Amino acid sequence: MTENMPPIDVVPQDHNTPILSIAKQLFFGRIDPAITPYPRPSLEEKERTDLFCHKLRQFCEAHIDPQEIDRESKIPANVIEGLGKLGLLGMTIPQNYGGLGMSLTAYCKALEVVSQRCGSTSAFLTAHQSIGFKALLLFGTPEQKEKWLPRIATGEIVASFALTEPNVGSDANAVETFAEYDAAKNVFYITGKKQWITNGSFAKIFTVMAKTDVDTGQGVKQRVTAFIVTPDMPGFKITTPALDKFGIRGVQSTSLEFDRMEVPAENILGKIGEGLKVALTVLNYGRITIGAGCAGPAKILVDHTFKYARERHQFNQPLSNFGLVKNKLSTLAALAYAIDAVTYFTAGKVDHGQKDFMLEAAIVKVFSTEALWKMIFETMQIFGGKAMFNDKPYQLLMRDCRPGMIVEGSNEVMNLFISMNGIKEVGVHLKQMLQSTKSFWESKDQVRENWKYLFNLFWPSNLELYSPSLQKEAKSLTQTTAFLGKSVLKLLWRYGDLLVQKQQDLERISLAAIHIYVTAAVLSKMDSDLERAHDKIDLIGCDLETTKFFCRYSLKKARQILKDLFDPLDQVSESLADHLIADL
Ligand SMILES: Cc1cc2nc3c(=O)[nH]c(=O)nc-3n(C[C@H](O)[C@H](O)[C@H](O)COP(=O)(O)OP(=O)(O)OC[C@H]3O[C@@H](n4cnc5c(N)ncnc54)[C@H](O)[C@@H]3O)c2cc1C
Repeated sequence: MTENMPPIDVVPQDHNTPILSIAKQLFFGRIDPAITPYPRPSLEEKERTDLFCHKLRQFCEAHIDPQEIDRESKIPANVIEGLGKLGLLGMTIPQNYGGLGMSLTAYCKALEVVSQRCGSTSAFLTAHQSIGFKALLLFGTPEQKEKWLPRIATGEIVASFALTEPNVGSDANAVETFAEYDAAKNVFYITGKKQWITNGSFAKIFTVMAKTDVDTGQGVKQRVTAFIVTPDMPGFKITTPALDKFGIRGVQSTSLEFDRMEVPAENILGKIGEGLKVALTVLNYGRITIGAGCAGPAKILVDHTFKYARERHQFNQPLSNFGLVKNKLSTLAALAYAIDAVTYFTAGKVDHGQKDFMLEAAIVKVFSTEALWKMIFETMQIFGGKAMFNDKPYQLLMRDCRPGMIVEGSNEVMNLFISMNGIKEVGVHLKQMLQSTKSFWESKDQVRENWKYLFNLFWPSNLELYSPSLQKEAKSLTQTTAFLGKSVLKLLWRYGDLLVQKQQDLERISLAAIHIYVTAAVLSKMDSDLERAHDKIDLIGCDLETTKFFCRYSLKKARQILKDLFDPLDQVSESLADHLIADL
């Protein structure tokens, strides 16, 4: 039953951001022309990143043995030390704190290099840099940063992010760990348990989420607050250093317990009671970097499957001759291209100053993890029996990539997050439209502006691209987006406030939005490549064909999903589940 479902975090729109983000506009049926140009780093930053990645690749090949890490369930200390010496562990820390001061895009490129070599090492890096010290970087005071960042930057100390608890997974607001304030000593006493905390057994700094009493102005309420915690604090205990698990076995998943752990009030990150905002902001960055962690293995899979399909013969011909195998190969190439395009599109936009990217980050996360999972499935089919054996890397890749669909927000919850936050913007807009229409003569311009939105749903504006080679795809993109906008309206019209209970339709809206956003990123990338090649298609090679294939594949899926809205089978399926549960 979904009737009593708790709300997914619907985040208030930051009204300092005047224009809705690219992903939010999709729910209005609009493609923001700002999808072009494809955001790219400056030449200087690119050269610096390429050089860094070159050294990193050499290090990974020489020192990281993914099979051994998997077998031993441990990343050797010399690997972590070596990555620290390279500067990787403080890559995004500003130079004045001893880091390399590089961009999100550069960090994603480095993460991609690591993920091509080893899933565990990539997960270690993400837990440390994408989320472990991100709150300190974004919300820390100058004193907090001065105290911690220099040692983090060198890799001397590793960071970790502790939100999840035995009773708290997807519902971050339900944190049970409690921080009691002692005004006399100006400290908090934190009591509670955390579980599955990556790097938890050896991290020397944690971002810990705990509830605190907060005077909200309407009485004292319990709100989540973020704290910096170190393992030397009295009351900090590691109850299980490393739980045995089947994927990313090299990273330590740790259980922690805090027994009236004394934490100075100066260790609060951000404002008291605003820990949820801290956590969600950190996770927004983390989710983009998950895309980079998928881009690495995705490219490896394309490389391996294409070679194998050409070499392996059955029925006196190469596998690549068979239509069913061809379908798999083109899908693999297109998905790998799309993971790359959407990850760097989004990271690049953030580097270029986009402030609200929570939907975009969730889209990157859901799309890239699901696409990689599909790619591994298809790769294993192409390799047949060989894929089952441990001398091939596919079973390890499969095990290592599986957690991606659960960590940092399970994909189901992410889909609800995407659709509810997107649809909410439309709901707010519709209310404003009705109000301004009532006072028509006072706000004629506003009314005209508002109604443009509806006009665009039926007569979508053209998307101006540089290259004429992509006009057909651009048109299909704007039409499919308008279809999404109309579907959102239909949903609001039919369900009104009950929409929150219609999870299957909410998921459909999200999936369609994901397909559309990723297609926009892919088109933007290709358009920019064509512009750089002065539209000389022969310089682009197969990428243009891959782009065109992906656009058709992805937009067709979006339209099919939207056609399935209001499927009566949803209700039948829910009733069956209810009866089966009641019968237990
Ligand atoms: C390898 C690994 C490493 C991790 N590292 C960390 C870490 O470093 N720090 C940290 O804090 N956490 C970490 N986690 C925890 C991770 O973030 C959580 O697993 C994740 O947030 C999901 O929570 P859960 O597993 O408790 O799933 P639950 O919340 O129990 O949900 C289970 C499933 O129920 C469904 N579901 C839940 N809610 C809804 C809903 N509202 N509507 C519809 N369906 C729903 C979804 O399908 C979901 O997958 C890690 C987990 C793993 C597996």
